Amino acid sequence: MRTRTGEARRSRRVPDAPIGSFESVVVGLYNRHMNPMRNLLLWASRNGSLERMVVGNGRFSGLARRFVAGETEEEAIRVVQSLNQRGFQVTLDFLGENTTNLDEARQARDEYLHLLDVIHEHSLQANISIKLTQLGLDLGVDVALEHAEAIARHAHERENSVEVDMEASAYVEDTLAIFETLQKRYGNLGIALQAYLYRTPGDLRRIFQVGGKVRVVKGAYNEPRAIAYQSREEIRRAFGRILEQLLTRDAVRAGVRTAIATHDDFLIQMARTLIRRNQIPREAYEFQFLYGVRRDVQEALVQEAPVRLYVPFGTHWYPYFMRRLAERPANLAFFLRALAGR
Ligand SMILES: Cc1cc2nc3c(=O)[nH]c(=O)nc-3n(C[C@H](O)[C@H](O)[C@H](O)COP(=O)(O)OP(=O)(O)OC[C@H]3O[C@@H](n4cnc5c(N)ncnc54)[C@H](O)[C@@H]3O)c2cc1C
Repeated sequence: MRTRTGEARRSRRVPDAPIGSFESVVVGLYNRHMNPMRNLLLWASRNGSLERMVVGNGRFSGLARRFVAGETEEEAIRVVQSLNQRGFQVTLDFLGENTTNLDEARQARDEYLHLLDVIHEHSLQANISIKLTQLGLDLGVDVALEHAEAIARHAHERENSVEVDMEASAYVEDTLAIFETLQKRYGNLGIALQAYLYRTPGDLRRIFQVGGKVRVVKGAYNEPRAIAYQSREEIRRAFGRILEQLLTRDAVRAGVRTAIATHDDFLIQMARTLIRRNQIPREAYEFQFLYGVRRDVQEALVQEAPVRLYVPFGTHWYPYFMRRLAERPANLAFFLRALAGR
């Protein structure tokens, strides 16, 4: 059985708190001891005892609301309706990952089938994002394929689409194979590709054979130098090269749509330039953001381009929430202040 290799730690210096404030102290400490603190948080994101402590404390579920739409489907639907009214499309993620129990994998499949019905009934501008390990990939490729196929078929019947998240490198080959199979059968799939992996340009060529949506992300797992770029600059350059391949007339002709999924101003600007220069039609691209991250940029961009927000919901919010804290020191300060009851 495969195991996750953990989440990424990328260097970043963010002087985003007033000097002398509690936040500035945390940001300073974080910047000086960046990787150890980040790794500690990512370790904490996978610790069951901490999860029980944090989830049981109402103060934290309040804090998690910044990044998570709620614990129930009803709450998520209300958030989607409000985002739709403000011009955003949504991709809904029912939180959960690395299921090693067949019943739980089936429950996740059923939740997504139901979600597709709810999206349809409420005429929401939303599709869904799935993680194949939540659908049983650790139990076998056939298990994940069977569950993902049920979801893709149901989405097809509801004239909707399914995006497949990309997880740690051990899962990339199986994830691509399942994507290719289902895209050929139903034609309504998207897949996330991680710019930090050296293999990604080759995977992109495979996707040009079957079409579908490519969500370009930097990559969120802790991968070794042997297979992945490590520095922020290298990853940014790799992301840029992928955009240059995707935001082209050739990609449009091959039926490949591009989702630019980053909060990085430099890459957003680069994508805007390529879209303009290559006259990429509006239906062939979109920008994607995580719910609650860089809301100012989301609001500005949606005035001129299609923007889709990745909206997670469910009771299993703890690992997702901890990863968001690990991404930015100011978030960590916010968390510590709440922990201290200040
Ligand atoms: C829609 C979407 C879907 C994704 N799907 C996947 C996936 O399937 N597989 C995968 O491996 N990864 C996925 N990711 C995560 C991605 O790989 C990165 O880890 C994450 O987006 C951070 O990288 P960045 O491109 O935003 O750049 P960064 O350099 O990390 O961030 C750029 C700037 O954005 C702001 N920012 C970033 N994160 C935060 C935060 N948590 N809180 C506040 N501000 C923040 C900061 O100002 C930062 O300087 C997804 C990301 C998005 C947006």
